[in-house]
Amino acid sequence: MYDQAIINGRIYQNHTWQYKNIYLDGEKIAHISHELLPAERIIDVKGFEVLPGMIDPHVHFELDLGWIKSVDTFETGSRAALYGGVTSIIDFLEPTDHPDALEKAYFERRKQAEASMIDYTFHATIKSPKCDLEDYVKKMKSLGMHTLKLFTTYSDSNRRTDDEAIYELLRLSKKYHFLVLAHIENDALITLEPSYTYKDLLKSRPSLAETSEALKLASFVKETGGYLYMVHLSSGFTLEALIQSYQDIIGTHLFLETCPQYLLFDASVWNQDQGYLYTFAPPLRTKEEQELLKKNIGSIQTIGTDHCAFMKKDKQKATLKEIPLGVGGIESSLSLMRALMGDEAIDKMSERVAMIQGLRQKGKLEIGYDADIIFVKPHLYLIGEPHATSDYSMYTGLEGYGEVITTMIRGQIVYHNHKVFPHTGRWIEGSDITF
Ligand SMILES: [Zn+2]
Repeated sequence: MYDQAIINGRIYQNHTWQYKNIYLDGEKIAHISHELLPAERIIDVKGFEVLPGMIDPHVHFELDLGWIKSVDTFETGSRAALYGGVTSIIDFLEPTDHPDALEKAYFERRKQAEASMIDYTFHATIKSPKCDLEDYVKKMKSLGMHTLKLFTTYSDSNRRTDDEAIYELLRLSKKYHFLVLAHIENDALITLEPSYTYKDLLKSRPSLAETSEALKLASFVKETGGYLYMVHLSSGFTLEALIQSYQDIIGTHLFLETCPQYLLFDASVWNQDQGYLYTFAPPLRTKEEQELLKKNIGSIQTIGTDHCAFMKKDKQKATLKEIPLGVGGIESSLSLMRALMGDEAIDKMSERVAMIQGLRQKGKLEIGYDADIIFVKPHLYLIGEPHATSDYSMYTGLEGYGEVITTMIRGQIVYHNHKVFPHTGRWIEGSDITF
């Protein structure tokens, strides 16, 4: 006798739709078949789609920029995530330059994340390292982290990692089975004049900064045989250039993530009233670049939101310098991306994320996997007001496909029909990154 049975659903398994029943034992998926078997609790989901829970590989809850903090805590951010069928997140550690500081940052973040309602893990984050890189990597691995984020820019806040260190980290990624994540913008090509407003974002952070840095780092990957994941790729020009020169390593050594904002908007939105609400880094690009990004979406492996929300009043500033860059969006990403690209969105937000980020128990409706399962009403609908902390969402009023009705985490229903039930998320044990 199974604990729970989810019957009559149209389930998404192996990149295709099938009518099957899913049986759970405790927190795990125990059986999937056409058979009708006995279970203590039977959930009939006739008329609904059944999907694995989504994994957002890129969120910033309680991000402390020194002068301002992103407004979603692990509690409010994860609560909002439930509305969108997101059952796991990967957040980031405070950037550090030494193994001891890394360990301290890890324990601090673990403490904060205890408030999360959904499961979580972290990317370690390195900044202008002043230590033996191998020691840093060994410390990271010993803490159970297998992904390491670095910045090629933000030298002004001392967060930049130089080429020599990047090259060495890529070399080490192969030896120690971890993934290097990189924010790819060429530091020297970024300017921030005191007079710039948000309408100058493309002058401040041109596409060339992203494209040139991406090509350079891809060449390092090819040379070292390491593993690199480029976060929030924003420009179709960058994507086309990578496809042209590095097609052979995309999806095997080089992994690409983009975010809903770059697919759904272009820089013309800055001319609207409240255009300042559409501000993040890298910035929105031209219509042409947006179209190229969409056209080549098949070469992008994952979608992450880069959820980093602020209030309207934080954004409404006279100069660019005063605007915290970042936006929310975790609760609407799945529906928006499904409306845009269909089933491909599901793979890019669940199975593919788990595979690339080393989360072996997550991302699939498969026997032995965590029972992170969502029930979805298959219809077009308009994205409503956000449930996160921020008083706005760029996505309100846009059309989404597939409304999440129920979110189950490890066998427990945590969200159903606009109601959230108490739940404590858990640290996800990651694995060595091997491809
Ligand atoms: Zn980010």
